[in-house]
Amino acid sequence: MKYLYLLAPILAFFAIIAVYFLIQTNRRPIPHYEPKEFVFDAEEYLRQLKMQHKPLDSSGVHRLLLKRTRQKVGVYLESLEPALDTIGLEIVNVYHSVMGFDYVPVITSGNDWPYHARKSKHYENKAIDFRIKFLLNEEKKSIVDLATKKLEGRARVIWEKGPMEHLHVELLEP
Ligand SMILES: [Zn+2]
Repeated sequence: MKYLYLLAPILAFFAIIAVYFLIQTNRRPIPHYEPKEFVFDAEEYLRQLKMQHKPLDSSGVHRLLLKRTRQKVGVYLESLEPALDTIGLEIVNVYHSVMGFDYVPVITSGNDWPYHARKSKHYENKAIDFRIKFLLNEEKKSIVDLATKKLEGRARVIWEKGPMEHLHVELLEP
Protein backbone atom coordinates (compact mmCIF):
# COMPACT_ATOMS: atom_id res chain seq x y z
CA MET A 1 0.00 0.00 0.00
CA LYS A 2 2.86 2.28 -0.59
CA TYR A 3 1.10 4.03 -3.46
CA LEU A 4 -1.94 4.94 -1.38
CA TYR A 5 -0.88 8.56 -1.41
CA LEU A 6 -1.56 8.57 -5.18
CA LEU A 7 -5.26 7.88 -4.64
CA ALA A 8 -6.11 11.43 -3.64
CA PRO A 9 -4.67 13.12 -6.79
CA ILE A 10 -6.32 10.47 -9.05
CA LEU A 11 -9.73 11.02 -7.43
CA ALA A 12 -9.24 14.75 -7.74
CA PHE A 13 -8.41 14.33 -11.45
CA PHE A 14 -11.63 12.38 -12.12
CA ALA A 15 -13.64 14.84 -10.11
CA ILE A 16 -12.33 17.67 -12.30
CA ILE A 17 -13.20 15.73 -15.44
CA ALA A 18 -16.72 15.11 -14.14
CA VAL A 19 -17.22 18.79 -13.39
CA TYR A 20 -15.90 19.67 -16.84
CA PHE A 21 -18.50 17.41 -18.52
CA LEU A 22 -21.26 18.81 -16.37
CA ILE A 23 -20.34 22.31 -17.47
CA GLN A 24 -20.21 21.22 -21.12
CA THR A 25 -23.67 19.68 -21.04
CA ASN A 26 -24.99 22.91 -19.58
CA ARG A 27 -23.61 24.84 -22.49
CA ARG A 28 -26.26 23.69 -24.89
CA PRO A 29 -27.23 26.48 -27.21
CA ILE A 30 -30.24 28.45 -26.05
CA PRO A 31 -33.07 27.76 -28.51
CA HIS A 32 -33.34 30.67 -30.84
CA TYR A 33 -36.80 32.15 -30.89
CA GLU A 34 -37.92 33.41 -34.23
CA PRO A 35 -41.25 35.13 -34.06
CA LYS A 36 -43.45 34.11 -36.94
CA GLU A 37 -44.92 36.96 -38.83
CA PHE A 38 -48.47 37.27 -37.59
CA VAL A 39 -51.03 37.34 -40.32
CA PHE A 40 -54.63 37.80 -39.38
CA ASP A 41 -56.89 35.53 -41.33
CA ALA A 42 -60.48 36.57 -40.78
CA GLU A 43 -61.78 33.45 -42.53
CA GLU A 44 -59.76 31.19 -40.25
CA TYR A 45 -60.77 33.20 -37.23
CA LEU A 46 -64.45 32.84 -38.03
CA ARG A 47 -64.01 29.13 -38.62
CA GLN A 48 -62.51 28.79 -35.16
CA LEU A 49 -65.32 30.86 -33.74
CA LYS A 50 -67.92 28.52 -35.22
CA MET A 51 -66.07 25.42 -34.01
CA GLN A 52 -66.04 26.53 -30.42
CA HIS A 53 -69.13 25.85 -28.40
CA LYS A 54 -68.48 29.01 -26.49
CA PRO A 55 -67.15 31.68 -28.80
CA LEU A 56 -64.70 34.32 -27.63
CA ASP A 57 -66.34 36.55 -25.11
CA SER A 58 -67.90 39.54 -26.75
CA SER A 59 -65.29 42.00 -25.53
CA GLY A 60 -62.62 39.87 -27.21
CA VAL A 61 -64.48 40.03 -30.52
CA HIS A 62 -64.98 43.75 -30.06
CA ARG A 63 -61.29 44.35 -29.46
CA LEU A 64 -60.47 42.31 -32.52
CA LEU A 65 -62.79 44.40 -34.67
CA LEU A 66 -61.10 47.59 -33.44
CA LYS A 67 -57.72 46.07 -34.17
CA ARG A 68 -58.55 44.94 -37.68
CA THR A 69 -60.06 48.23 -38.77
CA ARG A 70 -59.23 51.87 -38.48
CA GLN A 71 -61.79 54.22 -37.11
CA LYS A 72 -62.45 57.72 -38.21
CA VAL A 73 -61.84 60.26 -35.44
CA GLY A 74 -64.87 60.61 -33.21
CA VAL A 75 -66.42 57.27 -34.07
CA TYR A 76 -68.15 55.78 -31.05
CA LEU A 77 -68.30 51.99 -31.00
CA GLU A 78 -68.03 51.17 -27.32
CA SER A 79 -71.67 50.15 -26.85
CA LEU A 80 -71.96 48.25 -30.09
CA GLU A 81 -74.27 45.23 -30.06
CA PRO A 82 -72.02 42.14 -29.76
CA ALA A 83 -73.63 40.58 -32.84
CA LEU A 84 -72.49 43.59 -34.82
CA ASP A 85 -68.88 43.02 -33.75
CA THR A 86 -68.96 39.61 -35.41
CA ILE A 87 -70.70 41.04 -38.46
CA GLY A 88 -68.07 43.78 -38.58
CA LEU A 89 -65.35 41.13 -38.73
CA GLU A 90 -67.17 39.43 -41.56
CA ILE A 91 -67.20 42.73 -43.42
CA VAL A 92 -63.44 42.96 -42.81
CA ASN A 93 -63.19 39.54 -44.39
CA VAL A 94 -65.19 40.71 -47.41
CA TYR A 95 -62.87 43.70 -47.84
CA HIS A 96 -59.91 41.34 -47.64
CA SER A 97 -61.24 39.03 -50.30
CA VAL A 98 -61.88 41.92 -52.70
CA MET A 99 -58.99 44.28 -51.86
CA GLY A 100 -56.34 41.86 -50.69
CA PHE A 101 -55.10 40.91 -47.32
CA ASP A 102 -53.26 44.11 -46.48
CA TYR A 103 -56.28 46.30 -46.83
CA VAL A 104 -57.46 47.84 -43.58
CA PRO A 105 -61.11 48.89 -43.74
CA VAL A 106 -62.14 52.13 -42.08
CA ILE A 107 -65.22 52.41 -39.88
CA THR A 108 -66.60 55.87 -40.42
CA SER A 109 -69.52 55.78 -38.05
CA GLY A 110 -71.08 53.96 -35.14
CA ASN A 111 -73.30 55.61 -32.61
CA ASP A 112 -71.91 59.06 -33.16
CA TRP A 113 -72.97 60.91 -36.21
CA PRO A 114 -75.58 63.65 -35.70
CA TYR A 115 -76.70 63.42 -39.32
CA HIS A 116 -78.31 60.00 -39.32
CA ALA A 117 -82.05 59.81 -39.65
CA ARG A 118 -83.65 60.25 -36.27
CA LYS A 119 -84.80 56.65 -36.07
CA SER A 120 -81.50 55.34 -37.40
CA LYS A 121 -80.17 52.11 -35.95
CA HIS A 122 -76.92 53.93 -35.35
CA TYR A 123 -78.45 55.42 -32.22
CA GLU A 124 -79.33 51.95 -30.93
CA ASN A 125 -75.74 50.71 -31.47
CA LYS A 126 -77.08 48.44 -34.18
CA ALA A 127 -75.40 49.95 -37.23
CA ILE A 128 -71.91 50.78 -38.44
CA ASP A 129 -70.63 52.44 -41.59
CA PHE A 130 -67.57 51.47 -43.57
CA ARG A 131 -65.64 53.73 -45.92
CA ILE A 132 -66.10 52.74 -49.53
CA LYS A 133 -65.87 55.97 -51.51
CA PHE A 134 -62.21 55.79 -52.57
CA LEU A 135 -62.52 52.38 -54.17
CA LEU A 136 -63.05 51.53 -57.80
CA ASN A 137 -66.61 51.05 -58.86
CA GLU A 138 -66.22 47.32 -59.50
CA GLU A 139 -64.56 46.89 -56.10
CA LYS A 140 -67.45 48.64 -54.41
CA LYS A 141 -69.89 46.45 -56.25
CA SER A 142 -68.08 43.24 -55.31
CA ILE A 143 -67.92 44.28 -51.67
CA VAL A 144 -71.61 45.14 -51.54
CA ASP A 145 -72.62 41.92 -53.30
CA LEU A 146 -70.41 39.67 -51.18
CA ALA A 147 -71.43 41.33 -47.92
CA THR A 148 -75.11 41.17 -48.80
CA LYS A 149 -74.85 37.49 -49.60
CA LYS A 150 -72.77 36.67 -46.54
CA LEU A 151 -74.98 38.49 -44.05
CA GLU A 152 -78.32 37.51 -45.51
CA GLY A 153 -80.92 37.11 -42.79
CA ARG A 154 -78.69 38.69 -40.17
CA ALA A 155 -77.87 42.18 -41.35
CA ARG A 156 -78.95 44.66 -43.96
CA VAL A 157 -76.20 46.03 -46.17
CA ILE A 158 -76.90 49.34 -47.86
CA TRP A 159 -74.65 51.09 -50.35
CA GLU A 160 -75.34 54.72 -49.55
CA LYS A 161 -74.42 56.75 -52.58
CA GLY A 162 -73.97 60.47 -53.05
CA PRO A 163 -71.50 62.90 -51.49
CA MET A 164 -71.50 60.95 -48.22
CA GLU A 165 -71.06 57.61 -49.93
CA HIS A 166 -70.44 54.70 -47.55
CA LEU A 167 -71.38 51.13 -46.75
CA HIS A 168 -74.09 51.01 -44.10
CA VAL A 169 -74.53 47.76 -42.18
CA GLU A 170 -77.34 47.31 -39.68
CA LEU A 171 -78.58 44.39 -37.62
CA LEU A 172 -81.87 42.86 -38.63
CA GLU A 173 -84.28 42.63 -35.74
CA PRO A 174 -85.01 39.02 -34.80
ZN1 LIG B 1 -75.04 54.16 -41.52
